[in-house]
Amino acid sequence: MATETTTPLVARMRGFGTTIFAEMSALANATGAVNLGQGFPDFDGPAPMLAAAAQAIRDGVNQYPPGPGTPQLREAVAAHQQRFYGLAYDPATEVVVTAGATEAVTAAVLALCEAGDEVVVLDPLYDSYAAAVALAGAVLRPVALRPGPDGRFGFDEAELRAAFTPRTRLLLLNTPHNPTGTVLSRAELGLFAELCLAHDVVAVTDEVYEHLVLDSVDGLGHVPLATLPGMRERTLQISSAGKTFSCTGWKIGWACGPEPVVQALMRVKQYLTYTNGAPFQPAVALALGLDDDYFDSFTTGMRAKRDRLRVGLGQAGLGVEVSQGTYFVAADIRPLFGGTLPDGVDGLSFCRSLPERCGVVAVPMQVFYATPGEGCHLVRFTFGKRDDVLDEAVDRLAALAG
Ligand code: PMP
Ligand code: GLN
Repeated sequence: MATETTTPLVARMRGFGTTIFAEMSALANATGAVNLGQGFPDFDGPAPMLAAAAQAIRDGVNQYPPGPGTPQLREAVAAHQQRFYGLAYDPATEVVVTAGATEAVTAAVLALCEAGDEVVVLDPLYDSYAAAVALAGAVLRPVALRPGPDGRFGFDEAELRAAFTPRTRLLLLNTPHNPTGTVLSRAELGLFAELCLAHDVVAVTDEVYEHLVLDSVDGLGHVPLATLPGMRERTLQISSAGKTFSCTGWKIGWACGPEPVVQALMRVKQYLTYTNGAPFQPAVALALGLDDDYFDSFTTGMRAKRDRLRVGLGQAGLGVEVSQGTYFVAADIRPLFGGTLPDGVDGLSFCRSLPERCGVVAVPMQVFYATPGEGCHLVRFTFGKRDDVLDEAVDRLAALAG
């Protein structure tokens, strides 16, 4: 077996093991546990979208689509940005279709960062960001999100200001935020905008949970950073069909932004996948144009699921943090141990033992933190599951309280 010294793997990737999602989903499969770990829904997206993909396959839409995506989908993405946010993008030059948001983020980082450049991120961060930054030879500048007394994860303004330096090349910002569930307020976004403008930094925003703002912040829904004054011209907005239309396996994502940034991303993207998902592209184009009822009822349904799981986690004796958006909620495991973690116990060991203890899978938050030692008492549960599955998980978790 290869060891760290004999592995052919490049040094910059050696710190990365198998993703936590793969490990925990394999554990769920092996043990028959209810999987509230990996974030994917166990229900289908809108029926007309599914029918459109099936029809496209039957119609022979099975060869490479154009590199930047079909014109129809790029137009639908641009129309969606205009409809929900009042942002105008030229579908011919300012919109690119990608293999999920993951490829868009990776291509953006590879296209925009020289080796040694710094990338400011909220910590914890979605796991692929650190790998993309490492592949580019760039350096992460994490800014910690920690639960406040009100249970909402927030950051310290002074820490954020200090993270921006003359070496900062990119801000890689995710809101609604996975795994904490924080939705940044307009005032917080204003701070990011101010720092990007002052330091001449490009913002790459991961907005895959844009239709999963569950609690309105400042009376607003999702607020893209690009809508703040001066930011349209320096922001690359990334999103994906996976979460909004419950089709994570389709891997249709997109990026919108000023032409030079989008074309830089395109230069790299064409050599990563070139293109993907021919029959899914017309289907996602159709879905983006669904009426408000679809988007409203999706958000309302997910809010009810969040509340259902939060109650159950509380009854099981966990400390439940605030989740304003995404389909994740963080829980503090310390109350299960009388307030302090015993030696040798942390979120990771807890999650590894949870299937055996009560037949449920969750993911430890510490693996999302770039800063060692952060988040060891926190685990993340997804509520993007059918109500009967959530109820079954809650019944099983009740064993923890006993
Ligand atoms: N960013 C975040 C914050 C995510 O939670 C996920 C998982 N949906 C992704 C990116 C990946 O999105 P996709 O499946 O479209 O690549
Ligand atoms: N985005 C999903 C999550 O955070 C999982 C994606 C994946 O498995 N890589 O759970």
